Amino acid sequence: QGTVPLATVPNPSDRLLGGLLSPDFDGRACLSRYRAVLYRRASRHALSPRLVSALRRYESLHRLCAPGTPAYARALKRLGASPNTSIDGADPSGAPPCSYLVWTPDAGLGNRILSITSGFLYALLTDRVLLLNGSRDDLDDLFCEPFPGSTWILPETDFPVREKLSIDTRESLGSTLGRGEALAAAPWLYLHLVHNYKAHDRGFFCDDVQAELRRVPWLVFQADNYFVPGLFLIPRHERELARMFPRRDAVFHHLGRYLFHPSNTVWGMVTRYHGSFFARADERVGIQVRKFKWAPISDDELYGQILKCVQRENILPGVGAPRANANATAGGRPPKRKAVVVASLYNEYSEKLKDLYHEHGAAGGEAVSVFQPTHLGAQHFGDRQQNQKALAEMVLLSFVDVVVTTSVSTFGYVSQGLAGLRPWVLMRPDHGKAPDTPCRLAPTIEPCFHTPPNYDCRAKARADTGRIVQHIRHCEDFPQGVQLL
Ligand code: GDP
Repeated sequence: QGTVPLATVPNPSDRLLGGLLSPDFDGRACLSRYRAVLYRRASRHALSPRLVSALRRYESLHRLCAPGTPAYARALKRLGASPNTSIDGADPSGAPPCSYLVWTPDAGLGNRILSITSGFLYALLTDRVLLLNGSRDDLDDLFCEPFPGSTWILPETDFPVREKLSIDTRESLGSTLGRGEALAAAPWLYLHLVHNYKAHDRGFFCDDVQAELRRVPWLVFQADNYFVPGLFLIPRHERELARMFPRRDAVFHHLGRYLFHPSNTVWGMVTRYHGSFFARADERVGIQVRKFKWAPISDDELYGQILKCVQRENILPGVGAPRANANATAGGRPPKRKAVVVASLYNEYSEKLKDLYHEHGAAGGEAVSVFQPTHLGAQHFGDRQQNQKALAEMVLLSFVDVVVTTSVSTFGYVSQGLAGLRPWVLMRPDHGKAPDTPCRLAPTIEPCFHTPPNYDCRAKARADTGRIVQHIRHCEDFPQGVQLL
């Protein structure tokens, strides 16, 4: 992929990210895995030896249990499915059977990345093997395989559960508990961890329910949420989580950098965008702009908010009188080059920002260039190309020195988490108007869990998840949610 960059670039010799990544991969099959380190800032968040050993242990388990192995064929047989691999009888080695956690897609790519990460942490904690069960359009040519020598894609034809899973699914945790049935007898159960979940489904975050779930070989889940903070509520996982994450505020940062390596197709886009927009810059700024129907704001008002934010927080300079020689400062030195990448479905904001700096020039001897890779206009679920472009932009944003995101956007959470940067968050509009404080520096790089269980497992009653354990607080960008601090 040609010569690689540049100034704020990190520690190129650390291709395994301090032991986060396994060395057992073919670098060519997935260029991004060992090359992202050349583009992204080195992590400032310590990685615990416990997490590293948990990942290596998980990789062995995954290799043993993945599709195509005899252990997998045996597990499918127990589920009542006809496996593709021929099998004969019980495991001759007497090893315990494999158990699985099957992810099903829901919502946009940001939500999906966060729900896969949450599922992966649950799998790590409970010795399950994580498999993704999506259509080819959902999954093909988007991410590389994260676990060496095996796949995390569930073969479409293998799994006998075909119906669309929903809150009403008979085999859901909530329905089963609602009928007063024992969980342990079920060959599989569905965990509905979507924002509309009810009390029984929320029981997932309770210790007694977790004890029963241990005996269910196949768990299938659907989530549109980053439910990692909920796992920190479960007493049986407390110790292990504290060891894996002595600092709790970088869970997604580490697991995201471990799991999500863009495919070579997507990495091609990332490196081309980088070459065109970022390679020659002294400082890189990312601005991610999202408009939500539930938080209406006019384009002009939102543009004003973005501009006020970046200038007030000294992210971008003000505009000054055009200089006679725009290529040099008064002292003859070349100006500092700031490159701004805007990610948005719409191009209004980047066009205005670009015009502003072109027409008036940047004050203080800086040169500001503004780019936007795509502006797709609307969001389409399950569209491969759109997912690829969205992932490319999330990854590009993770290479910046300063990032501005939109509150509540999971697209923004993924970018800031991969970058390892606390973002400047564009605060929610208030009755169609930009708030007086246009943006705030987030207290953590962790994503927000938008719909926490708010459930007291002992009293079996409503409770405020933001007040149960010390390191989980309400989110600044979305007070109903909670996040790890
Ligand atoms: P959220 O809705 O902001 O939480 O983020 P999601 O990623 O879950 O869903 C939004 C989807 O819309 C993305 O996955 C993309 O498909 C699309 N989208 C939104 N903003 C952008 C953007 O800036 N660039 C691109 N390429 N796609 C976007």
